[in-house]
Amino acid sequence: MKKEFSQIRQNLCKECFWSQSDCLLTVGGAPLEILKQYIETQGQNEWEVMTMLLNQKYEIFPTEAQKEVLDRWLQYCRQTYNSALLDKERKYKQNKENYDRYDMQRQLTLDKNTYPFLKEMPSQPLQEVFARLKKAFENFFRKDAKYPKQKKYKDYTSMTFPQFGIKRNGKHRYAMSFSNNGKLYNTKLGEIDILLHRPLEGTIKQLILKRQGKRWYAIFCVERQVAPSDIDTNRSIGIDVGLHKYAVLSNGSEFENPRFLRGKEKRLKKAQRKLSKKRKGSVSFIKQVERVRKLHEKVANQRRDFLHKLSYNLAKEYSVIVVENLNIRNMVRNRKLSKSISDAGWGMFRNMLAYKCENHGGVLIKVEPKYTSQDCSFCGNRVKKSLSIRTHICTKCGTVLDRDYNASRNILQKGLEELLATN
Ligand SMILES: [Zn+2]
Repeated sequence: MKKEFSQIRQNLCKECFWSQSDCLLTVGGAPLEILKQYIETQGQNEWEVMTMLLNQKYEIFPTEAQKEVLDRWLQYCRQTYNSALLDKERKYKQNKENYDRYDMQRQLTLDKNTYPFLKEMPSQPLQEVFARLKKAFENFFRKDAKYPKQKKYKDYTSMTFPQFGIKRNGKHRYAMSFSNNGKLYNTKLGEIDILLHRPLEGTIKQLILKRQGKRWYAIFCVERQVAPSDIDTNRSIGIDVGLHKYAVLSNGSEFENPRFLRGKEKRLKKAQRKLSKKRKGSVSFIKQVERVRKLHEKVANQRRDFLHKLSYNLAKEYSVIVVENLNIRNMVRNRKLSKSISDAGWGMFRNMLAYKCENHGGVLIKVEPKYTSQDCSFCGNRVKKSLSIRTHICTKCGTVLDRDYNASRNILQKGLEELLATN
């Protein structure tokens, strides 16, 4: 079975509900079709473990000299990204030519001769740039993202080493590995201090080095086998996030919407108006800029705080958490809704849930939001209703429920179905 994992994984990567940033692949993702096929051909008893891909993040402490090198490598990656994007656009404009990853790689080989400094850095992360570009275009065509654009310094903050550790032959190392004394190692950089505040569990599949502000982080993507028995479906919950109430759980509890930003918006607007009246660069202008910045920060902090607490409590309490796979981008486009959606921080909330679930040994499952608010959570009857109708009244079984509560029950059900299908 192990041998076949790689094939399965390859198939999984093509479509999965988990976005890369949520750092997960399988379990609640879209492996259903492939897993079903697999189970059918193999017999259920053999399907005893699930494979998960998880991200584990650690702070690293490069010296000033190492930071300089890392930063330079990032710039090479960024330049490679930007020039590949330009090439692609040019080829398309000229004669509708498709310019793919492999063309880009060939160009890179030529570029390395023209610009020998590109040879300073390991070749794998440089090539991985094209995978990012490919993904950016895929997201764009799927309408999940805007058209890929030229990356500025501040936009390009990470590089990916798609392989890590010692090579199979046991003698050679990949560009990044652990040294004998447990530090991060690269031949050109030497050893980099890393704070392993918790053990790395699983097989390391890739490493991402990321610059955040002045700090650097190593993000390991590890593959872990999880026995389904670890997951307690009795402790499962469905969550419906919304504008009326922040979250409604399938056990009936509700969390109020923290409309911090709206409440404080007036103050912020006032402060901004004041700012616009001041002469740029004057002492009072600078003071006002600071005031506005602080107000912004306060709101952001309060929101983050609320979401941390909520997600922590949920992850601690429940082993299986099911949420909707909402396309926040599309929703934010609706201008009327957009203010409260962007200040509701749903994306942030789900990211927090994802890693907190992982920390507590649970799973976060994302399900398709189709019909979750329409279907009756008791009998399955579809009751069409517009957004303004806040109550679910089933014409078939007579159930009357709060709209969001009904939805959360459907979400949970969908998630459990997916989970059971994978086991
Ligand atoms: Zn019903």
